[in-house]
Amino acid sequence: MTKLDIYAPLDGTTVDLKTIPDEVFAGGMVGEGVSIAPASSVLKAPCAGEVINIHLSNHALSLRTADGIDVLLHIGLDTVSLKGKGFHLKTSLGAKVEIGDPLIAFDFSFLEKNAKSMLTEIIVSSSDKALKVTPVIGKKVTVGTDVILAVTATAKDKEPQENTALDTDEELTSWQIKITDPTGFHARPAAVLASEAKKFSSAVKIVKGDKEADAKSVTAIMGLDIKGGDSVTLKAKGSDAADALFDIVPALELAMSKAGEKAPLPTPIAIPLTPLSSDPNTLVGTPASEGKGTGKIRLFTPAVFKVEETAANPAAEVKKLEDALAEAHTDLQELSTKIPDAKQAAIFKAHAEMLSDTALTDKAFGLINSGKSAAFAWNKTCEEEANNLSHLSSPILSARAADIRDIKNRILSLLSNANAKEAKETPLSYPDDTILIAEELPPSAVASLDKAKIKGLAMTSGSATSHTAILAKTLGIPAIAGIEKRALEIPDGTLAFIDGSKGTLQINLSAKDFASALKEEEQSQEKHAAALKNAALPATTKDGKNIDIGGNVGSVFDAEKVLEAGGESIGLLRSEFLFLDRAAAPSEDEQADTYIKIAKLLGKDKKLIIRTLDIGGDKPLSYLPMPAEANPFLGMRGIRLTLAHQDIFRTQIRAILAAAKYSDIHIMFPMISRYKELIEAKQIVLDEQKKLHAPKVKIGVMIEVPSAALIADSLASEADFFSIGTNDLTQYTLAMDRGNSDLNKIADGLHPAVLRLIKMTVAGAHKYKKFVGVCGDMASNPAAVPLLLGLGVDELSMAPPSIPTIKELVRELDMKKCEQLANKALELPSATAVHDLLQSQKTGVKK
Ligand code: PEP
Ligand code: MG
Repeated sequence: MTKLDIYAPLDGTTVDLKTIPDEVFAGGMVGEGVSIAPASSVLKAPCAGEVINIHLSNHALSLRTADGIDVLLHIGLDTVSLKGKGFHLKTSLGAKVEIGDPLIAFDFSFLEKNAKSMLTEIIVSSSDKALKVTPVIGKKVTVGTDVILAVTATAKDKEPQENTALDTDEELTSWQIKITDPTGFHARPAAVLASEAKKFSSAVKIVKGDKEADAKSVTAIMGLDIKGGDSVTLKAKGSDAADALFDIVPALELAMSKAGEKAPLPTPIAIPLTPLSSDPNTLVGTPASEGKGTGKIRLFTPAVFKVEETAANPAAEVKKLEDALAEAHTDLQELSTKIPDAKQAAIFKAHAEMLSDTALTDKAFGLINSGKSAAFAWNKTCEEEANNLSHLSSPILSARAADIRDIKNRILSLLSNANAKEAKETPLSYPDDTILIAEELPPSAVASLDKAKIKGLAMTSGSATSHTAILAKTLGIPAIAGIEKRALEIPDGTLAFIDGSKGTLQINLSAKDFASALKEEEQSQEKHAAALKNAALPATTKDGKNIDIGGNVGSVFDAEKVLEAGGESIGLLRSEFLFLDRAAAPSEDEQADTYIKIAKLLGKDKKLIIRTLDIGGDKPLSYLPMPAEANPFLGMRGIRLTLAHQDIFRTQIRAILAAAKYSDIHIMFPMISRYKELIEAKQIVLDEQKKLHAPKVKIGVMIEVPSAALIADSLASEADFFSIGTNDLTQYTLAMDRGNSDLNKIADGLHPAVLRLIKMTVAGAHKYKKFVGVCGDMASNPAAVPLLLGLGVDELSMAPPSIPTIKELVRELDMKKCEQLANKALELPSATAVHDLLQSQKTGVKK
């Protein structure tokens, strides 16, 4: 008996092979082993041995130990399709390696973006030994230091009958099988073949040209280096040889045809650009930063850099780019330390980090080495990356395109401008009362605006969650994202009125309209100032109903802002912010640390609603791989996903429970669409609570899918509270993608269909005396607030800057009137009719 310890080939966290999203590996068809969610980017030898095969895509190789145990190392899932891109071989076929020797380096960020998953598999097998394999699962490991697999090998018993058959029977040969998968015979088809072959007692071989290999060994098959377009045959010898070929050949052909399949990419559909408002002088977009402003239009013109395509001396160009990157890095670090606002500072720190992203730099240096100039290489690399990002449907991810273009320009300016130092220090200057229009406004441009002169920003791209929008909010500049593209054609100097709360820009104002817009602006500023003064007062309607006004947060910093703004609770902690932009899930301790910090800030008397991970579909995590989905918003998202990955879910629940003694913790499940999901998720919380002897917490449901609203009474019998996610509820009720800026205006939460679902939700909850909050954007829309109150909502939760104004608004409302208004709205046929109703209430004029 021999023993072998296999060490971690990467830093990372080990994952049970059975749970990974690849049926071939998870089903044990390749062999036994473990998977690792990597946190480092050089795959190192996990044991001593000889490199016996390297896949031509350089994403996988096998080692054979002195005892004849084969260890397959496979970086990522379906990475064969990357055709070697992002992988750099650090060893060679036949090399003898020791533990810790580098084998394959890979481009981490490139794989994060382009691979189905980064999960890396370590699989052991042996053709002549029986193996007992004990994996270490769920452990944070360090490369070359921690053991991840303990292997015991014993000699296999000989099977006498089989041998007799082998000796006497004739060898049968199959017809030729064409390898149709262009990526060749990688681990997946190899595993299918080996597992099929193992079902038979006969010896089965795969033959390519004059080489053959044991078809029961994945590593032996991979050693044949079979490429797309090659032809192979199978040979079998033994008592069941004919049956073996009869079964294996079709299975192999099927595996080949499946391997060649690719999930089709969704085709973008062009939507004709019709004005979204019936008034041609009103342009509509997404509210990105509240406030009102009157001023004159100015079009932001992005810097244009003259870029020569080629350069004679690559070494000099490499040096130029390296110097510019280093200088920009220093500038950004300095900038981030100078800025007092933590959120703004974090944006520039992130930009500094992006400069060393090897996905960008490797590509740019590669272009330079092929004869391109530093500026051309950097420009092309950043533009391609920004374009890829801007086509993602997640507003969080697509908004990063603006950040990439920002660092692109920073470097181009350093490369092209001899006086760059002075240029970059000069803030953008605009005349007084400017409403700035841009296709995309880089965060650094917003930060350098003279706030006193800028009355508003309107961008045709971006979203309310972009860094540009965040900066506008912290600077108190009204802003609109994703405004109609015709905004770019408005002549400079046109008088305009921007309403950042409604997301509207009115142009061509008559003198009278301009005067009344100015008045509105003044009133809004006065109101805001008064609201700020009264921020600490409760939000009690005139007739005495108290509405709990909470904040939506994604960090400890946001939680501080909620309290500063007079927030009485946290109505939504979007915990996914803890999980994004990293190679492995945050550990239980790391999560607990953040939850505890926020819980302590709030204290025992304030409610803290923590939403469990709402990720999936278009917000992928490299360490939580999911198959590509044609309709990600209708796929594995929210609670569906976490119930399917209970390790991550349970870890999060335990981390939340660790904060339970510090605040009034409420756990909330996102995207519940079925009663069973609530029961299962609740049971998990109760199990973990019992195991930890943790204090009791409240358990709630986000109502963001029509089915949940329709069965609200059943859900309320099991849940302690609801919070309505009107962003998703609107999206799913109206079947309109919330990230599609062309649908901004009509994807309207004031549609009576959405209002009726809110009504049903409240009725279901109140039947069981449970409270209902709203944490979608509607909660901070002043037009919607009277309706929400009239529909019976008990709590509103919103981005911190909106808290003082909404509290003030609630104090001006009368519940009776709100109820009457809501009842009327419920009977109306369209969102437009609801808007008209609200307008007539304000002006007293009925349409
Ligand atoms: C919502 O859908 O309204 C909501 C608050 O959740 P999110 O915006 O995070 O999807
Ligand atoms: Mg939602």
